[in-house]
Amino acid sequence: MAVVVMKFGGTSVANIERIRNVARHVKREADAGNQVAVVVSAMAGVTNQLVSWVREASLLHDAREYDAVVATGEQVTAGLLAITLQSIGLQARSWQGWQIPITTTPAHGAARITGIDGAEIRRRLDTGEVAVITGFQGIEPDRNRIATLGRGGSDTSAVAIAVALKADVCDIYTDVDGVYTTDPRIVPKARRLPKVSYEEMLEMASLGSKVLQTRSVELAMVNRMTVRVLSSFTAPEAMEPARMDRLEDIGTIVCDEDEIVESQVVSGIAYVKDEAKVTLIKVEDKPGVASRIFGPLADANINVDMIIQSVTPDGMHTDMTFTVQGSELPRTLETLKAAKKEIGDFEIQSSADVAKISVIGIGMRSHAGVAAKMFSALAAKGINILAITTSEIKISVLIDAAYAELAVRTLHSVYGLDAD
Ligand code: ASP
Ligand code: MG
Repeated sequence: MAVVVMKFGGTSVANIERIRNVARHVKREADAGNQVAVVVSAMAGVTNQLVSWVREASLLHDAREYDAVVATGEQVTAGLLAITLQSIGLQARSWQGWQIPITTTPAHGAARITGIDGAEIRRRLDTGEVAVITGFQGIEPDRNRIATLGRGGSDTSAVAIAVALKADVCDIYTDVDGVYTTDPRIVPKARRLPKVSYEEMLEMASLGSKVLQTRSVELAMVNRMTVRVLSSFTAPEAMEPARMDRLEDIGTIVCDEDEIVESQVVSGIAYVKDEAKVTLIKVEDKPGVASRIFGPLADANINVDMIIQSVTPDGMHTDMTFTVQGSELPRTLETLKAAKKEIGDFEIQSSADVAKISVIGIGMRSHAGVAAKMFSALAAKGINILAITTSEIKISVLIDAAYAELAVRTLHSVYGLDAD
């Protein structure tokens, strides 16, 4: 018997019929003797609707009231699922964040979980009751206000609850049946990974494969919580109940790299199309210039990704190229113009038609030549590289957005990831 946290995302609970389907997944686990806590998202589209109502009411709204409104989506799903579970003979009750309580920081709209008291839920799991818990929300204890964790935050709720309950596994049910070597819509030969390490998953999550919220992976890694990604659209009765000795039979397990016996050198190719490139031309080359450029951007909360500094032939100036999220480009340009006095004279060039392609794999730590292979494969297709960054387990290149899909397909096959 195991303690299992099951998390269901918005598309899995989009209507009553799907909530019934979720109830059957839960019943399968309960019938097998597993103790179950379920974490739910709002029904598909509901959070977006709530957010747009808040904005329509007032663009300059009180963040605490924003949270009071947008947290309701999860409350509806939790109640509906508890009712549905009861109707098929299970003992179940819904829990909102404040009832447990799940305490958070006061950063409304982007709060972090600071604590979860799992004692009462554990006690009730022992009696066979299923706990249905709202994802995405908690309570900020100082002011006694509901706080939400940021979009996609239910994944983080699920992992945090799994940690607090000392669950054996945190099963994240979504609309895909696992984590793939790349986006199957671009590469039909993409393969499901049976296992992926926390580190690789972090790179993939932050690089645009949207299966798990990045923070949920960080939390799982820190606490060594085993996370599994599964599809709620697989027929509930066609799946085996979670068994700790046979987790691998289905979905993708996100776990410690030591648990991955046969690791590939490269395990996935990720891409981000929504990138923008900015070049400051002929900035004076002297100490402090980088800080005068990137300081104001950081103050404006603009996330800078790749940075390349190159010296111009006169030796007195430098060209500074960097990337930001495409949607941040207008703000970036404004911020730089405003900081022109401190930075000094420069010309500026920018382009939003760029994409970042990344090759990810823990095997890179111990294998040479991964980058060289990437560059020659792209060159063979005539794809020009605009910028390069690397980490211990990742190489990213910036290219013209028009070639993004060709690059992903090429690299997927060059690193031997194509399914037969
Ligand atoms: N309902 C919230 C959102 O759409 C949280 C989540 O689904 O993870 O962002
Ligand atoms: Mg999600």
